[in-house]
Amino acid sequence: MPDDDPRRRVPRTDVLLADPRLVEAVRRLGPGPVKEAVTAAQQRARAGALPPEDVADAAFAALPTRPASMRPVLNATGVVLHTNLGRAPLSPAAVEAVTAAAGYVDVEYDVATGRRARRGRGALAALRAAVPAAGDVLVVNNGAAALVLATTALAAGREVVVSRGEMVEIGDGFRLPDLIASTGARLREVGTTNRTSLADYAAALGPDTGCVLKVHPSNFRVEGFTSAVGVRELSMLGVPVVVDVGSGLLHPEPLLPDEPDATTALTDGASVVTGSGDKLLGGPQAGLLLGTAEVVERLRRHPLARALRVDKLTLAAMEATLRGPATPAHLALHADGGTLRRRTESLARRLAPAHPEVEVVPCAGAVGGGGAPGLVLPGWAVALPEELAPALRTGDPVVVARVERGRTLLDLRCVPDADDERLVAAVVAALARTGAEG
Ligand SMILES: *Cc1c(COP(=O)(O)O)cnc(C)c1O
Repeated sequence: MPDDDPRRRVPRTDVLLADPRLVEAVRRLGPGPVKEAVTAAQQRARAGALPPEDVADAAFAALPTRPASMRPVLNATGVVLHTNLGRAPLSPAAVEAVTAAAGYVDVEYDVATGRRARRGRGALAALRAAVPAAGDVLVVNNGAAALVLATTALAAGREVVVSRGEMVEIGDGFRLPDLIASTGARLREVGTTNRTSLADYAAALGPDTGCVLKVHPSNFRVEGFTSAVGVRELSMLGVPVVVDVGSGLLHPEPLLPDEPDATTALTDGASVVTGSGDKLLGGPQAGLLLGTAEVVERLRRHPLARALRVDKLTLAAMEATLRGPATPAHLALHADGGTLRRRTESLARRLAPAHPEVEVVPCAGAVGGGGAPGLVLPGWAVALPEELAPALRTGDPVVVARVERGRTLLDLRCVPDADDERLVAAVVAALARTGAEG
């Protein structure tokens, strides 16, 4: 290499890492990502693609903006609990609680005595207070874990009696029969896909029965000639009844008359109810177990409970969700049609200079997360060209829209109104990038 070759002037790594901006970046992001950015910039300079004096600036510009790679998304799909987008967004109160719990905390420690205390007692007390019909409660990793714990503790090596109409696949290959089989319990199927009677259950009971399981087939509906047995009748059979309500609704929700809730199931005689924390409860991923004091004590003492326990961040978020203000999921579910329409029209007006063909159209939102499959949440959307959707997904912030009948639809139901400005900016930028500007 000749002495005057600019490649000789590419700054050394230690010199670059002394740049105050990169020192600060190492403090915030760790040395790995910063060194990667530095090495990449040096290589570009050596290849002649970057002037040597710009290497520090280029490394700084290429740094990741966040310490973890998951990107916040503006959910413009109108689907409230979008499993691929992390289901329920936490409330500001829950976010604050998670941040406060991130360091050392008294999660399992009594500050008055200096001794060990019951883990997560605040969250458990909040859940008990929210559902007085439960004798006791427990929180585990997710809804599937709650179901595994309940069936293992009540029926390992014995039979779980379940209707053929409730042998469901919940999503992503998660099949109830496989889950139950993995616990060492045997499934005893009764009835048919569309009809199961109390006599079907009664005929299957015997000395080997561990429990009866009733599962809410959340993500589909059987219509026509159907019948199923309610919890009240099942609880007369004299064996423990486990009810998987799925969504984690604690009380009846008038907007969702077909969604079962924990309070009703317990009042009807369920021994234990399981559900998810990050569906309609609007909290963190968690499995809720609510039941009689005796059954919950059995679950708590089972060795598997330790393997399924939740961390302090989940406990903090759960307590804040239960005690705190209405969750974002609740607000999205109950969004007022008139307000949605005004916000959507305002969005369309602001996009019109960039794309005059923009339209406001009716749009059907949904609960999602495998809940309330038949239910339409009437709303509104801004309609734009289909080609815009990939540009919106790859912009910053990431915007996930709905693509329907050749159009990109932006439904504001699940976009907090504080984010309307960011959405406008993201769409204008995406229109510019796709050349779809009018
Ligand atoms: C969602 C769901 C589950 C699984 O809950 P996760 O929290 O996703 O593990 C189990 N049963 C029913 C009926 C569900 O709807």
